[in-house]
Amino acid sequence: MKNIVFIAPPAAGKGTQSHLLKKKYNLAHISTGDLLRKASLEESERGDYIRNCLSQGRLVSDEITLELLTERLNESDCENGYILDGFPRNVKQAIAYESWLNQTQKDLGYVIFLDIPKELAQKRIVGRETCPNCGAVFNDQIEVSKPKQDGICDICEHQLVKRKDDNDETFNQRYDTYMEQTEPLINHYRSLGILHTINEIDKEKAFQQIEKIIHE
Ligand code: AMP
Repeated sequence: MKNIVFIAPPAAGKGTQSHLLKKKYNLAHISTGDLLRKASLEESERGDYIRNCLSQGRLVSDEITLELLTERLNESDCENGYILDGFPRNVKQAIAYESWLNQTQKDLGYVIFLDIPKELAQKRIVGRETCPNCGAVFNDQIEVSKPKQDGICDICEHQLVKRKDDNDETFNQRYDTYMEQTEPLINHYRSLGILHTINEIDKEKAFQQIEKIIHE
Protein backbone atom coordinates (compact mmCIF):
# COMPACT_ATOMS: atom_id res chain seq x y z
CA MET A 1 0.00 0.00 0.00
CA LYS A 2 1.27 3.48 -0.89
CA ASN A 3 1.74 6.17 1.74
CA ILE A 4 -0.79 8.99 2.10
CA VAL A 5 -0.13 12.63 2.97
CA PHE A 6 -3.02 14.86 4.08
CA ILE A 7 -2.84 18.61 3.57
CA ALA A 8 -5.72 20.51 5.14
CA PRO A 9 -6.75 23.38 7.41
CA PRO A 10 -7.43 22.58 11.09
CA ALA A 11 -10.50 20.36 11.64
CA ALA A 12 -10.92 19.51 7.95
CA GLY A 13 -11.10 15.81 8.80
CA LYS A 14 -7.46 14.65 8.57
CA GLY A 15 -7.75 12.75 11.85
CA THR A 16 -11.14 11.24 10.99
CA GLN A 17 -10.07 10.09 7.52
CA SER A 18 -6.74 8.78 8.84
CA HIS A 19 -8.62 6.74 11.44
CA LEU A 20 -10.92 5.22 8.77
CA LEU A 21 -7.97 4.43 6.47
CA LYS A 22 -5.94 2.93 9.29
CA LYS A 23 -8.79 0.60 10.22
CA LYS A 24 -9.54 -0.54 6.70
CA TYR A 25 -6.04 -0.74 5.19
CA ASN A 26 -3.88 -1.41 8.24
CA LEU A 27 -1.75 1.67 7.64
CA ALA A 28 0.23 3.35 10.41
CA HIS A 29 -1.34 6.68 11.40
CA ILE A 30 1.27 9.32 12.15
CA SER A 31 -0.04 12.60 13.49
CA THR A 32 2.76 15.10 14.10
CA GLY A 33 0.30 16.95 16.37
CA ASP A 34 0.05 13.78 18.53
CA LEU A 35 3.84 13.30 18.52
CA LEU A 36 4.29 16.91 19.60
CA ARG A 37 1.53 16.77 22.24
CA LYS A 38 3.33 13.76 23.75
CA ALA A 39 6.72 15.52 23.61
CA SER A 40 5.16 18.62 25.21
CA LEU A 41 4.65 16.63 28.43
CA GLU A 42 8.42 16.31 28.93
CA GLU A 43 9.78 18.33 31.86
CA SER A 44 12.51 19.99 29.85
CA GLU A 45 13.30 23.15 27.92
CA ARG A 46 12.15 21.38 24.76
CA GLY A 47 8.88 20.36 26.45
CA ASP A 48 8.27 23.97 27.56
CA TYR A 49 9.00 25.29 24.08
CA ILE A 50 6.63 22.81 22.40
CA ARG A 51 3.88 23.48 24.96
CA ASN A 52 4.13 27.20 24.19
CA CYS A 53 3.89 26.68 20.43
CA LEU A 54 0.86 24.41 20.81
CA SER A 55 -1.01 26.77 23.12
CA GLN A 56 -0.37 29.69 20.77
CA GLY A 57 -1.27 27.78 17.59
CA ARG A 58 2.22 28.36 16.13
CA LEU A 59 4.24 25.75 14.29
CA VAL A 60 6.96 23.96 16.24
CA SER A 61 10.44 24.28 14.66
CA ASP A 62 11.11 22.16 11.59
CA GLU A 63 14.14 20.67 13.33
CA ILE A 64 12.23 19.25 16.32
CA THR A 65 9.28 18.15 14.19
CA LEU A 66 11.51 16.32 11.71
CA GLU A 67 13.48 14.64 14.47
CA LEU A 68 10.30 13.24 16.09
CA LEU A 69 8.82 12.29 12.73
CA THR A 70 11.84 10.43 11.31
CA GLU A 71 12.21 8.53 14.58
CA ARG A 72 8.56 7.43 14.24
CA LEU A 73 8.92 6.60 10.52
CA ASN A 74 11.71 4.15 11.34
CA GLU A 75 9.33 2.00 13.42
CA SER A 76 8.39 -1.34 11.89
CA ASP A 77 4.64 -0.68 11.54
CA CYS A 78 5.41 1.95 8.87
CA GLU A 79 6.81 -0.66 6.49
CA ASN A 80 3.32 -1.57 5.27
CA GLY A 81 2.56 2.08 4.43
CA TYR A 82 1.58 5.04 6.58
CA ILE A 83 -0.60 8.13 6.69
CA LEU A 84 0.94 11.51 7.47
CA ASP A 85 -1.62 13.62 9.30
CA GLY A 86 -0.34 17.16 9.86
CA PHE A 87 2.98 16.92 8.07
CA PRO A 88 4.38 18.63 6.03
CA ARG A 89 3.11 22.00 7.27
CA ASN A 90 5.35 24.23 5.15
CA VAL A 91 7.42 24.02 1.96
CA LYS A 92 10.68 23.60 3.89
CA GLN A 93 9.31 20.50 5.64
CA ALA A 94 8.06 19.13 2.30
CA ILE A 95 11.52 19.49 0.76
CA ALA A 96 13.25 17.94 3.80
CA TYR A 97 10.77 15.06 3.65
CA GLU A 98 11.40 14.53 -0.09
CA SER A 99 15.10 14.28 0.59
CA TRP A 100 14.46 11.74 3.41
CA LEU A 101 12.32 9.71 0.97
CA ASN A 102 15.15 9.75 -1.59
CA GLN A 103 17.70 8.64 0.97
CA THR A 104 15.54 5.81 2.24
CA GLN A 105 14.27 4.91 -1.27
CA LYS A 106 10.66 5.35 -0.26
CA ASP A 107 7.75 6.71 -2.24
CA LEU A 108 5.78 9.88 -1.44
CA GLY A 109 2.52 8.16 -2.40
CA TYR A 110 -0.74 10.13 -2.57
CA VAL A 111 -1.10 13.75 -1.51
CA ILE A 112 -4.71 14.53 -0.59
CA PHE A 113 -5.95 18.06 0.04
CA LEU A 114 -9.11 18.22 2.19
CA ASP A 115 -10.68 21.55 1.35
CA ILE A 116 -13.36 22.90 3.72
CA PRO A 117 -14.67 26.41 4.44
CA LYS A 118 -13.21 28.23 7.45
CA GLU A 119 -16.64 28.63 9.13
CA LEU A 120 -17.22 24.88 9.15
CA ALA A 121 -13.71 24.20 10.47
CA GLN A 122 -14.34 26.63 13.33
CA LYS A 123 -17.66 24.99 14.20
CA ARG A 124 -16.02 21.56 14.24
CA ILE A 125 -13.16 22.70 16.48
CA VAL A 126 -15.33 23.89 19.32
CA GLY A 127 -17.07 20.59 20.07
CA ARG A 128 -14.33 18.20 18.95
CA GLU A 129 -13.54 15.21 21.18
CA THR A 130 -10.95 12.58 20.33
CA CYS A 131 -10.29 9.09 21.60
CA PRO A 132 -6.66 8.96 22.77
CA ASN A 133 -6.78 5.16 22.56
CA CYS A 134 -8.05 4.42 19.04
CA GLY A 135 -7.98 7.88 17.40
CA ALA A 136 -11.73 8.08 16.62
CA VAL A 137 -13.07 11.66 16.43
CA PHE A 138 -16.49 12.86 17.70
CA ASN A 139 -18.21 16.20 18.13
CA ASP A 140 -20.61 17.02 20.95
CA GLN A 141 -21.98 20.09 19.10
CA ILE A 142 -22.86 18.35 15.82
CA GLU A 143 -25.81 15.95 16.07
CA VAL A 144 -24.55 13.30 13.62
CA SER A 145 -21.07 13.23 15.18
CA LYS A 146 -22.03 12.93 18.86
CA PRO A 147 -20.78 9.83 20.73
CA LYS A 148 -23.61 7.50 21.81
CA GLN A 149 -22.66 8.02 25.45
CA ASP A 150 -21.39 11.45 26.55
CA GLY A 151 -17.58 11.58 26.68
CA ILE A 152 -17.10 7.87 25.83
CA CYS A 153 -15.68 6.41 22.60
CA ASP A 154 -18.27 4.39 20.62
CA ILE A 155 -15.56 2.05 19.34
CA CYS A 156 -13.31 1.19 22.29
CA GLU A 157 -15.23 2.75 25.23
CA HIS A 158 -12.21 4.81 26.27
CA GLN A 159 -12.79 8.26 27.81
CA LEU A 160 -12.75 10.99 25.11
CA VAL A 161 -10.54 14.06 25.49
CA LYS A 162 -10.83 17.68 24.33
CA ARG A 163 -7.65 19.30 23.07
CA LYS A 164 -6.45 22.43 24.89
CA ASP A 165 -5.91 24.22 21.57
CA ASP A 166 -9.48 23.55 20.35
CA ASN A 167 -10.90 26.98 21.23
CA ASP A 168 -11.90 30.02 19.14
CA GLU A 169 -8.82 32.09 19.88
CA THR A 170 -6.23 29.40 19.12
CA PHE A 171 -8.27 28.28 16.12
CA ASN A 172 -7.91 31.73 14.51
CA GLN A 173 -4.15 31.64 15.05
CA ARG A 174 -3.91 28.08 13.71
CA TYR A 175 -5.98 29.02 10.67
CA ASP A 176 -3.76 32.06 9.94
CA THR A 177 -0.68 29.86 10.30
CA TYR A 178 -2.27 27.42 7.87
CA MET A 179 -2.97 30.16 5.29
CA GLU A 180 0.53 31.64 5.58
CA GLN A 181 2.64 28.51 5.77
CA THR A 182 0.73 25.39 4.77
CA GLU A 183 -1.52 26.60 1.97
CA PRO A 184 1.50 27.29 -0.34
CA LEU A 185 2.11 23.52 -0.25
CA ILE A 186 -0.95 23.05 -2.42
CA ASN A 187 0.83 24.69 -5.34
CA HIS A 188 4.02 22.82 -4.50
CA TYR A 189 2.26 19.45 -4.89
CA ARG A 190 0.02 20.63 -7.73
CA SER A 191 3.10 21.59 -9.74
CA LEU A 192 4.48 18.07 -9.17
CA GLY A 193 1.17 16.75 -10.60
CA ILE A 194 0.38 14.61 -7.54
CA LEU A 195 -2.30 16.60 -5.73
CA HIS A 196 -5.82 15.19 -5.24
CA THR A 197 -8.47 17.57 -3.91
CA ILE A 198 -11.54 16.52 -1.90
CA ASN A 199 -14.27 19.13 -1.38
CA GLU A 200 -16.77 16.76 0.24
CA ILE A 201 -17.60 17.59 3.88
CA ASP A 202 -19.58 14.43 4.70
CA LYS A 203 -17.09 12.00 6.26
CA GLU A 204 -18.42 8.81 4.62
CA LYS A 205 -18.60 10.41 1.17
CA ALA A 206 -15.15 11.95 1.56
CA PHE A 207 -13.83 8.50 2.54
CA GLN A 208 -15.38 6.97 -0.60
CA GLN A 209 -13.65 9.60 -2.72
CA ILE A 210 -10.30 8.87 -1.03
CA GLU A 211 -10.77 5.17 -1.65
CA LYS A 212 -11.45 5.89 -5.31
CA ILE A 213 -8.15 7.79 -5.54
CA ILE A 214 -6.13 5.01 -3.94
CA HIS A 215 -7.73 2.32 -6.11
CA GLU A 216 -7.28 4.12 -9.41
P1 AMP B 1 -2.72 19.19 14.68
O1 AMP B 1 -2.92 18.10 15.69
O2 AMP B 1 -2.24 18.66 13.35
O3 AMP B 1 -3.91 20.10 14.57
O4 AMP B 1 -1.50 20.08 15.23
C1 AMP B 1 -1.58 20.73 16.49
C2 AMP B 1 -0.40 21.66 16.65
O5 AMP B 1 0.83 20.90 16.63
C3 AMP B 1 -0.22 22.72 15.57
O6 AMP B 1 -1.03 23.86 15.82
C4 AMP B 1 1.27 23.02 15.69
O7 AMP B 1 1.53 23.83 16.81
C5 AMP B 1 1.85 21.64 15.98
N1 AMP B 1 2.22 20.89 14.76
C6 AMP B 1 1.59 19.81 14.24
N2 AMP B 1 2.21 19.37 13.13
C7 AMP B 1 3.26 20.21 12.94
C8 AMP B 1 4.29 20.29 11.95
N3 AMP B 1 4.33 19.44 10.90
N4 AMP B 1 5.22 21.27 12.08
C9 AMP B 1 5.20 22.13 13.12
N5 AMP B 1 4.24 22.12 14.06
C10 AMP B 1 3.28 21.16 13.99
